[in-house]
Amino acid sequence: MNIKEIDDKYVANTYARFPLQISGGKGSVAWDETGKKYIDLGTGIAVNIFGIADDEWIAAVTKQLTTLQHMSNLYYTEPEALLAKMLCERTGMKKVFFGNSGAEANECAIKAARKYSSDKYGSTRNVIVSLVNSFHGRTITTLAATGQDEFHNSFLPLTGGFVHTPANDVDALYSLVEGNPNIAAFMIEAVQGEGGILPLEQGFVDAMAEIAAARDILVICDEVQCGNGRTGKLYAYMNYGISPDIVSTAKGLGGGLPLGATLFGEKAENVLTAGTHGSTFGGNPVSCAGALSILSRIDDALLAGVMARSKYIVEELTGAPGVKSITGLGLMLGVETEKPASDVIAACMEKGVLVIKAKNKVRLLPALNIPMDLLSEAVSIIKGVCAG
Ligand SMILES: *Cc1c(COP(=O)(O)O)cnc(C)c1O
Repeated sequence: MNIKEIDDKYVANTYARFPLQISGGKGSVAWDETGKKYIDLGTGIAVNIFGIADDEWIAAVTKQLTTLQHMSNLYYTEPEALLAKMLCERTGMKKVFFGNSGAEANECAIKAARKYSSDKYGSTRNVIVSLVNSFHGRTITTLAATGQDEFHNSFLPLTGGFVHTPANDVDALYSLVEGNPNIAAFMIEAVQGEGGILPLEQGFVDAMAEIAAARDILVICDEVQCGNGRTGKLYAYMNYGISPDIVSTAKGLGGGLPLGATLFGEKAENVLTAGTHGSTFGGNPVSCAGALSILSRIDDALLAGVMARSKYIVEELTGAPGVKSITGLGLMLGVETEKPASDVIAACMEKGVLVIKAKNKVRLLPALNIPMDLLSEAVSIIKGVCAG
């Protein structure tokens, strides 16, 4: 049996995989087992921020790997402490909890928001409001937060206490809040990813922040996909000028190793106390050493490059034959095409460009440092496919 056959036989059927086996790569180029090369505009779903087999990241990870791979959270380790410090200094947040994934980062955010509210106002004030079309993860609780019924089917009952309100509908938000005194937190993605690459509107975010401040409702920003430099700011909420109480992130933070982080602002920094939460692998030294290398390189120069690349893609694709619209922020872009997105994605793969889907759109999530020549080659292939 070849790898595809072995995988199909033995790996659970949870993924509709592309008929492609990736065996290696360098930077923004991936190759399959036959040696065919692909320009990678998917980065393992916004994970490989500096591409595949990035030298600096490899050096940081390898150094830690050969020093100490794991010790548990019963002991202090250097990479975890230094990464928490760097995250706080870069965001103004106060404390960090580390887990292994986006779902786990959101679970922690939800637990902390509930405990904050429960400690202060009693346990009935426990409702988390998230947005229609949001995506927050696959556990039973983060599915409850996810505002898309298609993910809920067959798994009921989900964790209670979650309510969804339409994104960018200020009136709906006001009436929800008027009718519900038990809201503990609002949970948003500044740019919805799985929901179709939709940035929230400034007015909606402002209204939400204002209501939250007036009623001591916590604001949780899910930055799992849109964070870590992807939208041209270190975190996407920074495009909106708000100060969230809790920020969850993962995907790009570890540069390809599993790592999730939940950041707490002033209100929530001391909510979780010893014994109230934990994670065996959370803050793993190897993952954190890799993340230190990643985070320290998401600087103003890199972010300016993100915006320049974004502008280039948007200008090239706007009004191009077969392209209906383009949404998103920075290097998190959704292209609505006249042909079905799946057909465009398959044709691009055939021609050596890897892109992925978000709802009915072709989703572009290139490495933040993708070389311009590769990017322009990929964009011209996408244009050709859309037009053809
Ligand atoms: C991917 C994603 C998650 C879930 O992350 P996992 O690491 O797969 O658990 C949560 N929120 C958002 C916005 C995501 O894009």
